[in-house]
Amino acid sequence: MRTILNFIDGDARESSSGRTLDNFEPATGEVYSQVADSDADDIHAAYLAARDAFPAWSKTPASERSSILLDIAGAIEANLQRYAEAESRDTGKPVRLAATVDIPRAVSNLRFFATAILHTASELHATDHEALNYTLRRPRGVAGLISPWNLPLYLLTWKIAPALAAGNTAVAKPSEVTPMTAALLGESCAAAGLPPGVLNIVHGRGSEAGVALTAHPGIGTISFTGGTSTGAEIARTAAPMFKKLSLEMGGKNPNIIFEDADLDRALNESVRSSFANQGQICLCGSRILVQRSVYERFLERFVPLVEKLKTGDPQDPDTTQGAVVSKTHRDKILGYIDLAREEGGRVLCGGSVPEPANERCRNGWFVTPTVIADLPMDCRVNQEEIFGPAVTITPFKDEDEAVAMANCTRYGLAASIWTRDLARAHRMAERIDSGTVWINCWMVRDLRVPFGGMKDSGVGREGGEEALRFFTEPKNVCVKL
Ligand code: NAD
Repeated sequence: MRTILNFIDGDARESSSGRTLDNFEPATGEVYSQVADSDADDIHAAYLAARDAFPAWSKTPASERSSILLDIAGAIEANLQRYAEAESRDTGKPVRLAATVDIPRAVSNLRFFATAILHTASELHATDHEALNYTLRRPRGVAGLISPWNLPLYLLTWKIAPALAAGNTAVAKPSEVTPMTAALLGESCAAAGLPPGVLNIVHGRGSEAGVALTAHPGIGTISFTGGTSTGAEIARTAAPMFKKLSLEMGGKNPNIIFEDADLDRALNESVRSSFANQGQICLCGSRILVQRSVYERFLERFVPLVEKLKTGDPQDPDTTQGAVVSKTHRDKILGYIDLAREEGGRVLCGGSVPEPANERCRNGWFVTPTVIADLPMDCRVNQEEIFGPAVTITPFKDEDEAVAMANCTRYGLAASIWTRDLARAHRMAERIDSGTVWINCWMVRDLRVPFGGMKDSGVGREGGEEALRFFTEPKNVCVKL
């Protein structure tokens, strides 16, 4: 059985304690590898390697940094199927989804920031005829990058690419639940000639390695994606140390369908936005709000489409719904479905554990795609993040009620609005508290736009110029004329 090791100073290393954690395959429920269970000593070793690599890497011309990052992207692309199978095995998502979305998007992240760094500009302000002020941006040093399990390689590269492109070195801690693609990334970095120490990957639990990374006095920049309560804990540690923080956290995203929407498109995209990756994408629309005049018509067509989704072995190319990431997570999702029933909800489809697709998946962690109606907006199921294949559906009267429902949770990550009325689309976008609003689409991404959440969904923005700025320190230089 393979043991996934840390990648420190260009070498594969065991955890300093020699301890490992079991790594499970969600589709089978079985342990299929071991992963280093690192602690503060490993984080410190990674920090020392990153600190020592920083002077040379930060002075490396942008064109050379760019070329190495492009080579890493190329190395991932050349091994796309291997990466996709690893991601599927770790997460339970269909191999086809990993091969067509997750891994190609990780490649795009690296290419985007590798080329963006060649085209950055800096501000200059002429103060009448008296002085020139220009802003010098320099990399900040060693960055700490912490990522979750749902889109493991995509979200890790979303942090690594801008950090390294801007000239920082990094200590990355992937989720302990899905370490395999990060291990492959270490191999691709070495193959692409990334100098030792520029990127260090330390595996292990959040409560040990994650806490040590956040608290390390030498690591002044922390970029975190994960749950809101973890983000709060990180902020509690990092704020008194005056670390620069980016927190990308949970969501409870509304998907709002007006009576004048193109219903065919809204229906098909709502199935995707509800259940892609078994509903385990922070951007998934987990609360479907439908204008009352078309509510019944929408439901009559939506539920059969959901029932047609094929839950099964992630290795089967026909599978659209794979396993959820862990037994604990499956039990949490099923717990929310039970709670929905207690809160007066009507389960229109799903709501159970499906028959195993084959012998291999007999003990895997699956949940049938679930739609729940008749719940009030203030109940727990409509307020808390379930992060699985279970969505609620609720009618609304008019724009005002749709806005009130959309904004009534602590979260503000993303929203989708379906309407053919241009003015209404813009009005709604302006009134909804969320970092991203999609009009007549879902999860269309342009890597140049600032990405992140409002309220308890996030602090700071990632993506495009914002990300390169996050990983640099601006200094104003004032020159007297
Ligand atoms: P999580 O918060 O449990 O873990 C995320 C990462 O933080 C993991 O690497 C974990 O080991 C580490 N960690 C845990 N406790 C820590 C601590 N005390 N200090 C430092 N690090 C710690 O989240 P998860 O369950 O892996 O991911 C699911 C969550 O991520 C959901 O809430 C989802 O909405 C959110 N998410 C948000 C976005 C976004 O862009 N806003 C994207 C994907 C996922």
